[in-house]
Amino acid sequence: MTLEVISIGEPMVEFCATETGKLRDVQLFKRGWGGDTSNFIITVARQGRKGGYICRIGDDEFGESFLELWKSEGIDTSRVIIEKGGFTAVYFISLMPGGGHDFVYYRKDSAASHLSPSDIDEDYIRSAKVLHSSGISLAISRSCREAVMKAARIAKQADVMFSFDLNVRTKLWPLDLARKAIEEALKLSDIIFASAEDMRLLYGIEDPREAIKVLMKFNPGIAVIKLGAKGCLVASGKDVLHLEGFQVNVVDTTGAGDAFDGAFIVGLLEGWDLDRTAVYANAVGALTTTGLGAVEPIPKRKEVEEFLKERNVS
Ligand code: ADP
Repeated sequence: MTLEVISIGEPMVEFCATETGKLRDVQLFKRGWGGDTSNFIITVARQGRKGGYICRIGDDEFGESFLELWKSEGIDTSRVIIEKGGFTAVYFISLMPGGGHDFVYYRKDSAASHLSPSDIDEDYIRSAKVLHSSGISLAISRSCREAVMKAARIAKQADVMFSFDLNVRTKLWPLDLARKAIEEALKLSDIIFASAEDMRLLYGIEDPREAIKVLMKFNPGIAVIKLGAKGCLVASGKDVLHLEGFQVNVVDTTGAGDAFDGAFIVGLLEGWDLDRTAVYANAVGALTTTGLGAVEPIPKRKEVEEFLKERNVS
């Protein structure tokens, strides 16, 4: 299979509490995997498309576990750099009474944050149809930000579609720096993904229909605002569609947005219209909320098709 989608960013090992309560009291954690851009490319692979990942990992057990994971998913790891003496980042999820969850990250100075422009292979980027990255990849370090922007500029010149998710994380960087850097990426984006929360944090906009107009000013072909259980808004040209979400038994929403993005890109590669693409992405997002952790519940294409059939959506 030739490479179609490349993702670039930071993988992180996940430890999800198996019981409700504060981290200090939790005895058992379920090990999984996370990192928005890794979740994204795994979703692409599970829908039957060939993906590749660009990142740095530590020369540690967790880095090794990621390599095994990506290989088992059929993801190209030829541009994954194993950094001697570096470490792979981790995070813990605590489950709060009432269903919410909270994250604690151990990522500062991780191997992933050392990605730099010299790690970007121009021919590799040019060989794909889509390049994807996010606000988190821009935030984790200056060198990683420069690497992502180099890759985005190569993509732009080579007519490779650049897909970007704002994924605003105010813990990672000051808001004014985040806005400036994210807007630089938005100017190069062909498809923009944001959550309603991203737009509230970055611009103080509450109304998603206002928010999508702001994204369309950056001239992508397509902008998408994810609305959690309410589905998504999709804009292209002057048209704005609202596609309702699916009702499911939600266990953990971690990674739903990343899986949504991956599924949406697959819909575009299939040549589906925006309506069908967004319904498919809503289904993948919804299914991803039905299990614990970011990666394990990401559905394969067959499961998504069965789910849509059950719901009488073709
Ligand atoms: P993000 O994780 O980027 O903040 P959302 O929470 O909006 O994004 O979730 C992404 C997508 O996943 C939504 O647009 C929707 O399709 C699906 N989704 C998320 N939460 C739910 C839910 N509670 N019920 C059904 N679908 C959901």
